[in-house]
Amino acid sequence: MNHTDFDLLKADLQTRLATIAAGSDKRGDIAIQQSADSLDQTQLATERDLVVSLLNRDSQMSRLVKGALRRMEDGTYGTCLACEDPVSVKRLQAVPWAELCLRCQERSDLTAAGVLGAEHDEGVKLGIG
Ligand SMILES: [Zn+2]
Repeated sequence: MNHTDFDLLKADLQTRLATIAAGSDKRGDIAIQQSADSLDQTQLATERDLVVSLLNRDSQMSRLVKGALRRMEDGTYGTCLACEDPVSVKRLQAVPWAELCLRCQERSDLTAAGVLGAEHDEGVKLGIG
């Protein structure tokens, strides 16, 4: 990976992190406003569940993005966490927070879907998935 690729990916990750942080704040405000309102309780609960699931997704994404930025700091960015092979620049441009190379990611996805047995899975040992 050259310096330009690295800088672009870093800028991309930082932008994403800022966007997630801004979005989470906004949704948090909405949740508070709604709970103070006297809307139908079922609808309220459904909307709160939706906000919570969005916040969960944000926090998961923010964890991944922060992890990628941390790996940029310590110089391990772009290396697969499972097999330690380099993750292709093309894959990083599509998924800048990728922790695994495509091969390991596919394997991890298949295991998560129950297609492969967990006993040989490297992702489980590493706590992924
Ligand atoms: Zn790998």
